[in-house]
Amino acid sequence: MAKEINQLLKIYNSLSGSKEIFKPVLEDHVGMYVCGPTVYNNVHLGNCRTFVSFDLVYRYLKHLGYKVRYVRNITDAGHLENDADEGEDRIAKKARLESLEPMEIVQRYTIDFHETLAKFNNLPPNIEPTATGHIIEQIEIIKKIIQNGCAYEVNGSVYFDVLKFNENHHYGKLSGRQIEEMIANTRELAGQSEKKNPQDFALWKKAEPKHIMRWPSPWSVGFPGWHLECTAMSTKYLGYTFDIHGGGMDLKFPHHECEIAQSEASTGKEPVNYWMHANMLTLNGKKMAKSTGNNVLPNEIFTGSNEVLSKSFQPSVVRFFMLMSHYRSILDFSNDALLAAEKGFMRLMNAYHLLKKIDSSKDSSFDVQAWKQNCYDAMNDDFNSPILIAQLFEAVKVIHQLNEGFARLDSVDLETFKNSMHAFLFDVLGLEDITPNNQGEKLTKTVELLIGLRTEARLNKDFQTSDKIRNQLSDIGIQLKDGKDGTAFSIE
Ligand code: AMP
Ligand code: ZN
Repeated sequence: MAKEINQLLKIYNSLSGSKEIFKPVLEDHVGMYVCGPTVYNNVHLGNCRTFVSFDLVYRYLKHLGYKVRYVRNITDAGHLENDADEGEDRIAKKARLESLEPMEIVQRYTIDFHETLAKFNNLPPNIEPTATGHIIEQIEIIKKIIQNGCAYEVNGSVYFDVLKFNENHHYGKLSGRQIEEMIANTRELAGQSEKKNPQDFALWKKAEPKHIMRWPSPWSVGFPGWHLECTAMSTKYLGYTFDIHGGGMDLKFPHHECEIAQSEASTGKEPVNYWMHANMLTLNGKKMAKSTGNNVLPNEIFTGSNEVLSKSFQPSVVRFFMLMSHYRSILDFSNDALLAAEKGFMRLMNAYHLLKKIDSSKDSSFDVQAWKQNCYDAMNDDFNSPILIAQLFEAVKVIHQLNEGFARLDSVDLETFKNSMHAFLFDVLGLEDITPNNQGEKLTKTVELLIGLRTEARLNKDFQTSDKIRNQLSDIGIQLKDGKDGTAFSIE
C-alpha cells in the first residue's frame, strides 16, 4: 500500500468548527474511536451511512500509511429509552417483549450488524469492546469523578454535577451551548427528580426490582449511564487523549458533550483532538430512525423487497450512493438516487476494466501526476469523496480517449494511472469490483450448481425435479443440452 503519509490532511473538527491540519498524538499512529450501535434492532440504512462514513476515514488513513487503531464499541447495556435518564433499557425492553434473555437480543443484533456492514465492504475495527465487558472500568471512572467533586450520590444512584463541573470547564463547548441557556430552557419542576439540576446526567443508576441487567457497585446494585461506556472504552484502549472520535451528528449532544465532561472531570485532560460528526440519512426528508419506523433496511434494498424501490441494488451501488455525497451533508434516500448511482458506478467499473487492457505509448498526452494529486487533494480536504468521485469520472473520459487513440500514456504514467484508479476505487472508497464479466462468472456458477442438482435428481430417478429444473431454466432463457460428456448450457 502507498506510503503517502506526507499528504497534508485537513479534518473538520466539530469542537473548533473549522478544518484543521491533522497531526496525530503519536507520529505515524492514529487512535480512532467511533460510537457503535445499540444492539436491540436490525441496523437501518441510516446507521450504515454513519459507519460507511467512518470506514472511508479509516481506509484513507490506512492508505496514507498510518498505523490506525480503530475502536468501535457495541452498546449492550445502559442505553435508556430517552436522553433524560428515564424509561426502560432498550435491550431489556426488547428482551421482555420477545421473552428472551437480554444477551440473546444482543447476540442476534450484533450478528446482524456485522453481516450487514460486511456486505457494504466495511473493514472491521481493531477492537470492538462491549459496555457489559467494561463495568469495572466504568465504576473506577465514577469513583474518580466523585473524588474530584463533580458527581454526587442520591439513593444509590450517582449523577454528574454539571453546574459544579462548569465552574472550571465549559459544559456545552462541543455543541455550542451555554449552561445559562440550557437552564433557561428547562421546565422541569423542582422535586420531580433525584438530580440536583435537570442538566445533570446519570453515571450510575440503582436498578429497580424489574430491571434485569444489573451489577454490584459501591453505591447500589445497578447499571452504568450510557455516556460512561464510551469514556471508559475509548480511554482504556487509546489513552486519556487520543486523535479522532466519531459518531452521527445526533450524538453530539448530549452523548459526546457528556463524554468530554466525564473525561475532563476524571483525568483533567481533553479526551479528543478531532471530533468528527457524520450527517444524517433521510427518507422523505425526515431522519431515518428506528423509533419512528421511517427507515429502510439494507436487506430490503439488496432483495428489492421494499415498496419504495423499483428493483434490487447491490451493496456496492448503495455504498457508492452514500459516498457520492460528503459525510457532513444530509443525504436523502430515494429509488431515483439509487438508479443514478448504479449508472455511475457501472460506468466507472467498465472504464476501470477497459483501462486494464490499454497499452502504453512512447509519450504521454495527459498529466497523470496532476490528476492523482487532485484525487489526494479531494480526500485531504476533509475526506471529500464526491470531489474524488468527480476526479474518477474525469479519468473515465481519459480512459475512453486512450481506448480510441485520442490520448496517449507512456509506460510509467500508464502504470501510475492503473494503480491509482485501483487504489482510489477499491482501497479508499471500498467499492467492490463488479463487472459484467464478473457477474457472468457468478451466473455460470449458479447454472452449474443447478445442473449438478438436476444430475443428482436424475440419478435418484426423481424425474419430476430434474424436468422442473430444465423447464424453469428454459423459461428464463437458459437451455440445457445433455451430451455424453455431461450437460452443457446456453444463455439466450
Ligand atoms: P444507535 O444504534 O441508535 O446508537 O445508532 C448508531 C449510529 O447510527 C450512531 O452513530 C447514530 O448517530 C447513527 N445514526 C442513527 N440514525 C442515523 C441516520 N438517519 N443517518 C445517519 N446516521 C444515523
Ligand atoms: Zn458513544
